[in-house]
Parts: sequence; C-alpha cells; structure tokens
Amino acid sequence: MPEPLHNLAFDAVRKSYATGTQAVDGVSCTIRGGSFVALVGASGSGKSTLLKMVNRLIEPSAGRITIGGTPVDAEPPHLLRRRIGYVFQNVGLFPHLTVGENVAIGLRLAGARDRDSRVAELLRLVDLPEAMAARMPDALSGGQRQRVGVARALATRPRLLLMDEPFGALDPVTRDALGKAIRGLHDTMGLTTLLVTHDMAEALLLADRVLVMEAGRIVGDATPADLLAGKGGAAADALVAVPREQAERLAALAR
Ligand code: ADP
Repeated sequence: MPEPLHNLAFDAVRKSYATGTQAVDGVSCTIRGGSFVALVGASGSGKSTLLKMVNRLIEPSAGRITIGGTPVDAEPPHLLRRRIGYVFQNVGLFPHLTVGENVAIGLRLAGARDRDSRVAELLRLVDLPEAMAARMPDALSGGQRQRVGVARALATRPRLLLMDEPFGALDPVTRDALGKAIRGLHDTMGLTTLLVTHDMAEALLLADRVLVMEAGRIVGDATPADLLAGKGGAAADALVAVPREQAERLAALAR
C-alpha cells in the first residue's frame, strides 16, 4: 500500500538572501495531498525560492514547511529528497552518463536493486522507448530530455512532485504534449504536484488550483474556473487577461 497522501503546508515562510532581497515575504498556505497546484507570477516574484525551500535546496529564514505535519527539516536532506520528485527547467542531466544511468541516479543512491528493469518501466511511463536508456543525453531532443528528467524525478516513487518551469525551453507543441503527459502521470500515480510557471494559460489548463505570487507574497489563490470568472482578485485578473484576450482574438479570426 502506498503511504497516504500528505498535505504540504507553508506557515509564515520567509526567505531573505544575503543581498538583502526579501524573496519570500511571509507565505502561509496548505496544498492538499493529491492536488495539482500551479504557482504563477512574474520573473523574480519568489516562485523558485518558495519551491526550493520544500526540498531544502534553500533554507527558509523564518517560518515552517511541513509534509503531513512533519517539518521538512526533521530528516537529512538526502532522505527527504528521495520522497520528493524534482524537475527543473534546464533538466540537468549529467552529459557523461547515459539516459539510463541518469534515470537511475536516485535509485543508485538509495541502494535499489534491479535498477535496469525499473529504468525500462520509467521510460515507458514517460512514453520513451526503452532502448533510449543506452543513449547519451546530447543525442536527445529537448522534449525527450525533459521526459528523461521526469522519469528520473519519479524513480524513487515520490508522492510529491515539484516542477520549476519544466517546459520553459520547449517549443509550444512539445510543451503542450509534455504538460498533458505530466497531468496524466499526476492523476494515474496519485501525486501531489506543485508546478512553477510564468505562463497563466498553462496553469489554467493543467492545475486544480492556481496561486499567484507577487513580490514574495501570495496575492491570488483560486481554481481555474474562478479565475476565468474574474473571482481571483486584481493580480490574477491581470495575468488571466492575456490568454483570455488571445483566445478571443483567435476565435474572432476563425469566424
Ligand atoms: P522567480 O522564480 O519567481 O523568478 P526567484 O525565487 O528566483 O523568483 O527570485 C526571487 C527574488 O530573489 C529575485 O529578486 C531574485 O533576484 C532573488 N534571488 C534569487 N536567488 C537569489 C540568490 N541566490 N541570491 C540573491 N538573490 C536571489
């Protein structure tokens, strides 16, 4: 039996960098276990910093982050990170390792046996041919590389998936396909997913709930339906206006 899904909670979380920048300025919110939440906002609004405090790539200056009520700093970071999948924008595959070795890194660190069959299973999961395990990362397209990044993030069967602009460098068609694939994996694997994106259209199409960040604070928190109905507040309205107007212009062109 998989362990039950836990809520991820932020309690008065702050982060000020040594430079004096207050990147996260008092965030309190609870992300329900099993939900798919998008964190949207302009560049520099603190999204990445907030995300990286969950798996302790960044330590908060104040406040508390808990998973299922247990503070994330209750165990050493490497054990915490086994339970949290993390996908980042530039993928970060090791260029001198094969695709299979890249996917298996977390498994190797965890001392897992029978890694080859698990790698094959993970590649199938992200719709890549098993034979790709033998390739080097530079022999893959950007979209394929990001699928490998997702396979690697899911290798140790985490229940929580953090994604930091995972589609940022991809063309729109690949981006759309990968977004749907990730939403599919979220649903079938019963994950809790936190996706950082600056793209409100992507957030509306993929997430159950959208958090809007501005200057280190959450200034909007609503479902896509409420956001589209104009119930998300001023900051969210401004971001929703862009894809809405584009959709209207396209619809007008098609008439
Ligand atoms: P976002 O992900 O929304 O683009 P970030 O969390 O990356 O925002 O950054 C929030 C703020 O913190 C920005 O002003 C950024 O310049 C600053 N910042 C991010 N990382 C560092 C760092 N390592 N040192 C100093 N300032 C940083």
